[in-house]
Parts: sequence; C-alpha cells; structure tokens
Amino acid sequence: MRFDIITLFPDIFTSYLRQSILNKAIEAKLVEVHLWNLRDWSTNKHQTVDDRPYGGGPGMLIMAEPVFLAVEEVQSKDPTPATLVMLTPSGQRLNHNLVLEMVKRPRYIFLCGRYEGFDERIRIGLNPLEVSIGDFVCNGGEVPAMVLMDSIIRFIPGVLGDETSLIDESHAQSGWLEYPQYTRPRVFRELSVPDVLLSGDHQAIAAWRQEMATRDSDKNK
Ligand code: SAM
Repeated sequence: MRFDIITLFPDIFTSYLRQSILNKAIEAKLVEVHLWNLRDWSTNKHQTVDDRPYGGGPGMLIMAEPVFLAVEEVQSKDPTPATLVMLTPSGQRLNHNLVLEMVKRPRYIFLCGRYEGFDERIRIGLNPLEVSIGDFVCNGGEVPAMVLMDSIIRFIPGVLGDETSLIDESHAQSGWLEYPQYTRPRVFRELSVPDVLLSGDHQAIAAWRQEMATRDSDKNK
C-alpha cells in the first residue's frame, strides 16, 4: 500500500516512519510512504500557501491552488490511482469499520491541514474522503494522518508478526473491548493474577475473557 502525504511539516513524520512496526513494513516493502511539502507548490515568491478568509474572521486558510497542483502532481508519480483523503475535524469519524474499508484500497494521498483549515473549493473540487479522528481539534492534520495510517497498516497481511492478535483486539467485534491481560509475576504489589488464568482450564479461560471483553462495551456511548 502506498501513502503520499501532503503537509507543511514533513519532518513531523520522519521519526515515526523509522520506528517499530511501520519501519519494518516499509523495509519489507509492504508499505511505501512519500512525504511532500505543500510549500513546493506555492505560486508566490514568499512560498506561502495560506491567506486570510473572505468575510473576515480569525486565522488563515490553506489556498486552493497549491493544493490542486500538489494533488495533481503527486497523483502522477505512480500509475496506481490514489484515493484522496482530507484530514478534517468535520469529516467522517474514524472507527474500526472505516479502517477495514480503507485497507482494501492500494493507494492514498493524505492532505494535512493547518491554521483554520482549507479553502472550501478544495473539498468541492477534489471531492476527498473526509476523515476525522474524533470530535476534538488538533493543531494540524499530521497527527491525525499518523493515527489513520497506523490503524490501517495493522490490517495489511504480513505487517503484524502475529495476525491472530487482531482477532481478540478491542473493537474487532461490535461491543468488544479487549479482556484484561496479565504477564509475570503472578503477584505484584499484592495484586494477583486472577485464578482462572492459572487454572489451565481453556474453556473457563475463554468464558472469563468473553465476559470481561463485553462488560464495558457501552462505556463510550
Ligand atoms: N477551523 C477548523 C475547524 O473548526 O474545523 C480546525 C482547523 S485545525 C486547527 C487545522 C487542521 O488540523 C485541520 O485542517 C485538519 O487537517 C487537522 N485536524 C484538526 N483536528 C482534526 C481531527 N479531529 N481530525 C482530523 N484532522 C484534524
């Protein structure tokens, strides 16, 4: 899967791309990530890409022209058609089902906003998939883009060492939050591992886990 990320702050991604699962996925050629600085498509000598909103109001908006130029050129870098994604707090809220839908497509261009967001003509003209990582506002689209990419790549076959870990994970089924897990020692500061997990009785363990995994399922409702 290929991700092209258009951002004003490509450096925010560099450390993240070098770590752990994502780094291994890139080395194994399961994932490709290309960073693009929106400023490279600025049409003025000061390399700005933002301007004041018509009608007044606080802050600046990302202008339409550099974004259109960037998206068109980045799209042409690879013959695989990309799905354009705009990270925006007013988008479709990210959840497990959206991640499962998104993992089916081979290529994405992520558009990371800054300031007060985007000139509306970007949304109208480029018709992106608009994705929000939650009902709150971050300073820019870079962290939301990392959240989205991180959640998608887990489902690419071969990315996780042990894919069975996806099966029991929180949100894998509706109303399911992962059951409590313990590792050594058996007692830590007077807190003991539940007896059932030491019983060797696989049926009893499965029943306990099922009960635990569904007990708090309405916590976010
Ligand atoms: N004025 C905008 C509004 O009220 O919706 C918020 C702009 S925010 C400060 C700047 C950028 O951060 C946005 O354009 C978007 O790319 C990104 N962003 C902030 N919160 C986000 C969220 N919850 N999900 C996805 N992207 C977000």
